[in-house]
Amino acid sequence: MANKQKEICFLCGKTRSEVNQLLKGKFGYICSDCVQEAYRVLNENEEEISHNVQLATPRQIKEYLDLYVIGQNEAKRTLAVSVHNHYKRISQSKKSDVEIQKSNVLLIGSTGSGKTYLAQSLAKFLGVPFVIADATTLTEAGYVGDDVESILLTLLQNADFDNKLAEKGIVYIDEIDKIARKGDNMSITRDVSGEGVQQALLKIIEGSVVRVPLSGGRKHPQGECVNLDTSNILFICGGAFDGLEKIVHKGADSKPIGFGADIQKPNEKLFNLANVQQKDLVKYGLMPELIGRLPVVTTLQPLSEDDLVKILTEPKNALTKQYKELLAMDGVKLEFETDALKRIAELAIKKEIGARGLRSIIEKAMQDVMYSVPDMADVKKVVVTPGVIDGIEEAVVLGSRNKKIA
Ligand code: ADP
Repeated sequence: MANKQKEICFLCGKTRSEVNQLLKGKFGYICSDCVQEAYRVLNENEEEISHNVQLATPRQIKEYLDLYVIGQNEAKRTLAVSVHNHYKRISQSKKSDVEIQKSNVLLIGSTGSGKTYLAQSLAKFLGVPFVIADATTLTEAGYVGDDVESILLTLLQNADFDNKLAEKGIVYIDEIDKIARKGDNMSITRDVSGEGVQQALLKIIEGSVVRVPLSGGRKHPQGECVNLDTSNILFICGGAFDGLEKIVHKGADSKPIGFGADIQKPNEKLFNLANVQQKDLVKYGLMPELIGRLPVVTTLQPLSEDDLVKILTEPKNALTKQYKELLAMDGVKLEFETDALKRIAELAIKKEIGARGLRSIIEKAMQDVMYSVPDMADVKKVVVTPGVIDGIEEAVVLGSRNKKIA
C-alpha cells in the first residue's frame, strides 16, 4: 500500500516519470514496460508449447501414419522426414545464419493409392489446418474459375481465420500432373493453359505474402483482403503422371531400341518411377521453377490385392470394422469370409481406381444386410460370402447356437 502514495511500479520500482504509463490496480501500480515484458514471456511460452507438439520425430510420424495408411513405406518415411524438417525449419532460431529451405513434397502414384489420404493423415496428426485443392479447377488470373488464392482462403477458413495458424498449415494440391504443359506429353487433353496455372501456383508455393480476398476472389474486387505469408505453409502436390514411365524409360541408359521397345513388363513402371528425376518431370510438362519448389519427390506403389484386403480390415477405421461396429449395436456379430474380402479387392483392382473403389463395392454388397437385419429377431451372426459381393447370394444369417435363420 506504501506504493500507492509513491506511485512506483510494484514489479520494477520505476517511477511515473521513468515510464510511458503507470497503470493503477487495486493493490498498487504496474508500469507499461512490465506489462509488455509479461506479454512477451507469455507468448514465448505459447510458441514453445506448439513447437514441442510439432517436433514429433520422423519415426513417431511414420508410426502414426502406419495406423491408417497401408503399405507405401517409402512415401511414409520420406514424408515423415520432410514434415519433421519442415517444422524444425519453422521453429529455427532467427539468429541462425544457415537458412534451411522449405521441402515441399511431390507424391507420384496412381489413383486411389493413398496420396491424399497420406497428406490428410499427416495434417490430422500434427493438428494443423489442412486443405485439399484440385489443380484442374484452378485457372490463371483473368479467367473464369478458381483462383489459387481460393486455396488459401479455404485454409484460412479451416484455421478459423487465425492467420498465424493458417501460415503453418498444409496444402494438398491434387492432379498437379493435369496442368502440365501440352506438347511432349501424351496424356493432356484438357483445354487449359497449363503454364499459366503453374505460374499462379508457383507464386503461392515459392513463399510470398499473398493478398487473400475474404469474399471469394475477383467477383468482389472491392472486398476485404487479408495478407497471408505462405513461406511456412507446407505444400504437398500429388498426381498419377500417366505416361511418365515412358519418359523415365527413354532417359535410362540401356534402352532396347526398335520394335516392341515400348512394351513394358508389369513392374517396370514401378521400377522406373522410383528413379524419376527432375528432368523427366520437366519433359512431362511441369515448369522447372515449379519442380524446383518441390524438391522432395516420392512414389507410391499401386495397391496389390493383399494391400486392399489389409485396407479393408486393418486400419483403425477400416471399412469392415465400421460395418461390424454398426451391427454390433444391434447385438449382431458380422463376419466377412476371407474369399469375400479378396473378391472385393479383385473388383476394386478391375475398376482401376485403387482403394477408392472399395467403399462403393462394399456398400452395394452390404445394402441388403444393413436393411433387413435390424428388423430380424434373434439374429446373432451374419456371414458375408463371395457370392454376396457378386450380388448372386444372400448373406448367411445365424441365430443362437449358429442355427441358420436365413
Ligand atoms: P489418391 O489421392 O492417391 O487418388 P486417396 O488417398 O484419395 O487416393 O484414396 C482414397 C481412399 O482410399 C482414402 O480416403 C482411403 O480411405 C483409402 N486408401 C487409399 N490408399 C490407402 C492406403 N494405402 N491405406 C489405407 N487406405 C487407403
